[in-house]
Amino acid sequence: MRDDELRALTGACAKCGTCRTVCTLYPERKAEISVARGKIALIDASLEGKDTNLDAVQEALADCLLCGRCERACPNQVLVEEIIMKGRADAARGIGIPAWKQVVFGRVMPSPKGREAAVSAAAAAQRLFAREIPSASGLHYRFPEKFGLSGRTVPKLPKKGFIASLKPKEAVSGDVLLFVGCVFDHVFPQVGRASYETMKISGSDIAVFRDAACCGLPAMVSGDRDASLRCAEENIRRLRAAEPEKIVFPCGSCLLMFKRNLFSLIPEKHELRSDAVEVSNRCVDYAGFILGSGVVSRLPDPPEGEKVGEIGYHDPCHLTGTLGKGQEAREVLREAVGSSFAEMKGADLCCGYGGTFNIRDYPTSARIGRNKISAAAEGGAKVVATACSGCILQLRDMAARTDPGMEIVHLAELVAKALSRR
Ligand code: SF4
Ligand code: SF4
Ligand code: SF4
Repeated sequence: MRDDELRALTGACAKCGTCRTVCTLYPERKAEISVARGKIALIDASLEGKDTNLDAVQEALADCLLCGRCERACPNQVLVEEIIMKGRADAARGIGIPAWKQVVFGRVMPSPKGREAAVSAAAAAQRLFAREIPSASGLHYRFPEKFGLSGRTVPKLPKKGFIASLKPKEAVSGDVLLFVGCVFDHVFPQVGRASYETMKISGSDIAVFRDAACCGLPAMVSGDRDASLRCAEENIRRLRAAEPEKIVFPCGSCLLMFKRNLFSLIPEKHELRSDAVEVSNRCVDYAGFILGSGVVSRLPDPPEGEKVGEIGYHDPCHLTGTLGKGQEAREVLREAVGSSFAEMKGADLCCGYGGTFNIRDYPTSARIGRNKISAAAEGGAKVVATACSGCILQLRDMAARTDPGMEIVHLAELVAKALSRR
């Protein structure tokens, strides 16, 4: 590794070990290399030429959920997530990015048509190879162990995504733009639809960002910064051309990309820097928009006889932890469901998904996720709302295994349900 920027970032670490006390992964691994301090020490050794085994560095850096708990606890404000993502990119440059990832990140994810075709192919494969299971939690298929998917339950892919289901003249132009995100477009189109329909109550003209590239987060966390930059550039150019007043994100991970990670990809001297700042300043989370635009004041009173504390809220690490957007969702929930909502035990615990981590080490990811569901169930939660696509994928899978009666929903679905009582 020869990255001066990386050296400057790791130099802020005092090796105090505070990060070990909060790391989501440490209770599972009980190994120094799993926590931020150990990873930083390994990067430093590599930068100094003491350890040239890039495979080992890559392996250690991949073993992280990027939940950011260490960074938030760090007394020196070490930018751990940035260090890990940059370290992964350095290692990937040395080792190479697998061809299939280059195709997915570089060609499929930036293109709305490419994603649509890929999801259609995946839906066909799902019908052929997966076994349908009955489930109350919205998961419909279980893959056989032989496919290396560890028997996990996954959502039945819809025939049409949310954007594909829009009428040609529907939601084409407006002051407020909905950035649906790949998962809420192609996998859970009901979330895209609920977000759109509830945002319309604000009275603003709502347009859907139809030709969005992926936010670029999956490529970035996999070390493919070139592909991530390509997604960012495409989105910034299209968003600058559309000039919306606000861009609303139902997915906390997509929002993180626009609020924070974008500036790692687009440094100060980059020609798109000022456009990136302009776009980023206009990005808001779904709950923040619903709260600030008067939608909550139009919600009918919650029904009488509601069960106190039956609905909980799971804090997505990226949204509540990193971006500090947790209270808005709670306020929206209180307005939508009244005292059915109560703070859930373990609300701020990481769900264990971690994007690529869930694919890399599913058993560990599932153990962390099951603990989360058990904590929620112990406190009496029957419905868990959240606002991140990765969290919903993970929590539904875990609920299907641990507590099939538990429902996992997006906040927008509960707001839509409340509005339907009008
Ligand atoms: S808490 Fe921060 S300063 Fe302390 S070891 Fe971890 S990363 Fe380094
Ligand atoms: S980001 Fe999360 S899993 Fe990774 S080292 Fe920090 S606390 Fe541990
Ligand atoms: S974070 Fe996930 S849902 Fe959001 S745009 Fe990226 S891939 Fe799609």
